[in-house]
Amino acid sequence: MIIDVHYHQIPFIPEEMIPGVLEDPIRAAKLIGINVDMAELMARAREYWPDPDGEKLIAAMDASGIDFTVICAVDNASSDMVTQDMVLMQNQMVGAVARKFPDRVMALAGVDPRRANAPDLLKRCFEEFGMKGLKYHPDYGYNPSGPESYRLIEFLAANKGILLTHTGPLGPPSRVKFSDPLLLGDIGVDFPEVRVIAAHMGLINWRPWASLAAHQPNLYGDLAMWDTYAMSSYGLFCRELRDIIDFVGVQKILFGTDDPIVRVIRPAKDWIDLIRDLPKQAPDGIFFTEDEVAAILGGNAQKLLGIA
Ligand SMILES: [Zn+2]
Repeated sequence: MIIDVHYHQIPFIPEEMIPGVLEDPIRAAKLIGINVDMAELMARAREYWPDPDGEKLIAAMDASGIDFTVICAVDNASSDMVTQDMVLMQNQMVGAVARKFPDRVMALAGVDPRRANAPDLLKRCFEEFGMKGLKYHPDYGYNPSGPESYRLIEFLAANKGILLTHTGPLGPPSRVKFSDPLLLGDIGVDFPEVRVIAAHMGLINWRPWASLAAHQPNLYGDLAMWDTYAMSSYGLFCRELRDIIDFVGVQKILFGTDDPIVRVIRPAKDWIDLIRDLPKQAPDGIFFTEDEVAAILGGNAQKLLGIA
């Protein structure tokens, strides 16, 4: 079974926001050595990204052999472009996709804890829109274990919700101090029952995440954005992934794509195939087993999410 735990369901996107969101895939393409043509990328973004009813998501999953996907909405209270009404509408539409395809999709709410009414918004996302967890981008400017956030984590604890939260440095305007994986440490102390997925495992800064995940039973990490390392520096990726498995245990590592955003530069299937081929392709002296690959690609997420 293949499970993608990190997918951005985008019901709609204003044309003027596309170039900003394209910055990360463009950076990734340069690292991998893929020639990018801005007009072509814009055309792909317009084609792949806006997906109000989830039909593009399901077609992409079928094309790459993904059985189940955790989709998320994202809120950013520091952006004037993201209004209260937009947040509600986005969550409603993302929740509706999961309700439409309950055997294939689970939805996480995007609620910025800095909003005064954030607890009410999250409650509506669960009760009215059928969402099962929360997605954070703390690097927009908030502490994931601060008092505002704790109002939402309390709700997750009471309702068995999961938290997927961005970790790892990104370029400006990302406020990287808030994406430090160690900021999640308090959540594991005060809400040990809440399952937390540190998106990207901290990226290059993975050791702090690993040091914490080795001790906190409910702290996981996902491999979204690691395809850039894997496709640009394959040997380095293999060494680091091996180290992470040996330090933390393979059961903490979950597959993720960050699609449809990264889809503009590579099909998800290429990323899946790269992981699947690790036992055969890893450089001399670095070994992966078929069991480890199966656990990373879906077995771990299946247990974590309770998927039959
Ligand atoms: Zn993401």
